[in-house]
Amino acid sequence: MSLTYFREDGALCVESLPLETIAGQYGTPCWVYSRAALEAAYREFEQACAGRETLICYAVKANSNLAILNLFARLGAGFDIVSGGELARVLAAGGAAHKIVFSGVGKTETEMRAALAAGILCFNVESEPELERLSRVADDIGLTAPVSIRVNPDIDAKTHPYIATGLSENKFGVGYEEALPLYRKALRLPRVRVVGIDVHIGSQITAIEPFLAALDRVLEFADVLDATGIRLEHLDLGGGLGIRYRDEEAPAVSDYLARLFSALGERRVKILFEPGRALVGNAGMLLTRIEYLKRGPVKNFAVVDAAMNDLLRPALYRAWHDIVPVRRRTVERVDWDVVGPVCESADFLGLERPLAVEQGDLLALLSAGAYGMSMSSNYNSRPRPAEVIVDGAAVHLVRPRESVESLFASERFLP
Ligand SMILES: *Cc1c(COP(=O)(O)O)cnc(C)c1O
Repeated sequence: MSLTYFREDGALCVESLPLETIAGQYGTPCWVYSRAALEAAYREFEQACAGRETLICYAVKANSNLAILNLFARLGAGFDIVSGGELARVLAAGGAAHKIVFSGVGKTETEMRAALAAGILCFNVESEPELERLSRVADDIGLTAPVSIRVNPDIDAKTHPYIATGLSENKFGVGYEEALPLYRKALRLPRVRVVGIDVHIGSQITAIEPFLAALDRVLEFADVLDATGIRLEHLDLGGGLGIRYRDEEAPAVSDYLARLFSALGERRVKILFEPGRALVGNAGMLLTRIEYLKRGPVKNFAVVDAAMNDLLRPALYRAWHDIVPVRRRTVERVDWDVVGPVCESADFLGLERPLAVEQGDLLALLSAGAYGMSMSSNYNSRPRPAEVIVDGAAVHLVRPRESVESLFASERFLP
């Protein structure tokens, strides 16, 4: 399903709503999500899981707006969190604590306490000192911690190095040699209950083979555990499925899951997934307005009102987002570097894009639903944009634009 389409009069729309209407109502820049696209992405996962015992744990860090978390919670999703802040968000959004898995290499005592008190499904433990701390914190408050060990399968996910997590050189998880002693240790801790195993090899992965290779290693290891009397309640296969930004051939969700299930064969163990990008990436966009068209001797710049502080991916990973003018024009098509007003040369959203545009036009930066707003900052004292969700012909404001005053409201002078 494509998020946008041109109406006959040349206006770009999301669901039944022209983007010009949204810009008129909420201003720019503005994050625009589609309820239908969010729901369709979740249902695709759900349908491909039919007949298996599974839990789809949405990776909150991809987009943590409460309305989106609430939408997924209503559809029955679980959640993969990486901080106490995300835990609080999920609970505030009506997410079920017993469907939450907690990942991340740096869990603090405070975060552990909050997650134990909430009664989450599982801590995905990433090191021995973390296991020791968790055991101690659980003992302190008289609760038992359900635990998976995150194993690092040393598999090259063939993705951008900043989002590869399954290589021995990465900070995530523990190697196989370390994992078995760690499981043995976990079994001896009275306030720890071993429930599963976890693997997550990276993000924006566009081939199925690395997932299959990781699963192979997990199954092999689960068999070793089984032979030593450690029975697991679930296998957590992580997230990382890629989406199409430009011309990537990302696997269909149904193919990806069918291949994994086929590799699982007759094993009847509960399977957890932690998709983030695949659920929200293509369900959102960043709407921005051209402030200036600036022609130079070497390059032409379309200076827009969104910037790297809003959408960091191009600056951080040289990531590609399709850029589509919101109104069709008959003016000459020229190559523009689409840049923001932030004082960094990395502040670009797209380079050398052939666009037929005029000053004041609106542009849609597509596939920006994942790692967009959630990675944004207030750099250059720029308030974060509004977030809206289109639902048919209606549009709902789910986060108002920040005010400039709110950015420094809690700051204090020296005495
Ligand atoms: C980021 C992350 C995910 C989600 O990754 P996507 O590529 O967005 O699917 C899942 N699990 C863990 C542990 C993560 O860190």
